[in-house]
Amino acid sequence: MNMKRIGAHFSIAGGVENAPLNAKETGAKAFALFTKNQRQWKAKPLSENNIELFKENCEKYGFLPQHILPHDGYLINLGHPEKEGLERSRTAFLDEIQRCEKLGLIYLNFHPGSTLGKITEEQCLKTVAESINITLDKTNGVTAVIENTAGQGNNVGYTFEHIALIIDNVEDKDRIGVCLDTCHAFASGYDLQTKTAFDRTFEKFDEIISFKYLKGMHLNDSKRELGSRIDRHESIGTGKIGPNAFRFLMNDDRFDEIPLILETPNSEIWKDEIKLLYGLIE
Ligand SMILES: [Zn+2]
Ligand SMILES: [Zn+2]
Repeated sequence: MNMKRIGAHFSIAGGVENAPLNAKETGAKAFALFTKNQRQWKAKPLSENNIELFKENCEKYGFLPQHILPHDGYLINLGHPEKEGLERSRTAFLDEIQRCEKLGLIYLNFHPGSTLGKITEEQCLKTVAESINITLDKTNGVTAVIENTAGQGNNVGYTFEHIALIIDNVEDKDRIGVCLDTCHAFASGYDLQTKTAFDRTFEKFDEIISFKYLKGMHLNDSKRELGSRIDRHESIGTGKIGPNAFRFLMNDDRFDEIPLILETPNSEIWKDEIKLLYGLIE
């Protein structure tokens, strides 16, 4: 039976195997995680023991690879304007994909990159695509999942056209996907508040990118207004997007069976937010 797979981004403190455990305890049917410290370039390789326990817990609690959305580290910029920074990012990204391979995972969610104010957005987006091509060439079985951004600072990836441009330049179309973050979409100017606005936004998404690339979503309300270009997540229903968008989403089968991940600020109420979202199904 097709269903909504709501989850959240869980901590791996104490070992990567704790993410599925934390997810289960919160009533999640999907989850996101970092496979290493997200603020450092280097990490110890995952131990065989951690890998085995992770797989065991996923199986025990019913999490399939397509319901798990690992996120890469914050330092990586696949569209870096300078050679050294780009090389460093590509090396780290390759390591991230290989960690996913080892864990038996099939996705890696990442933010496209930043021009750092030194190159055009188009140059940056093409560099991102080239970085993806280089990495996919060296790996197997993991799909690179581009996340749309709020368009804060010099970040690219804040329009559907940006994402389509990356996909167009990726050679292996079977291993590229998209994760749509509702807060980022709203902050970058895609309205979701009314049924008409919600439908128009996803019509555009399908037209410009195509639903076939949608591998997951981040469900976040937004502290800031439509088109603010500022990335500030808010708990579901209490921000500027409001509860209606999430009700539309929960009753739309285009979002079945993909990980729908909360990255909302108060992890203590994730259990309640998950219940609230399931309660919106009519
Ligand atoms: Zn996100
Ligand atoms: Zn964000």
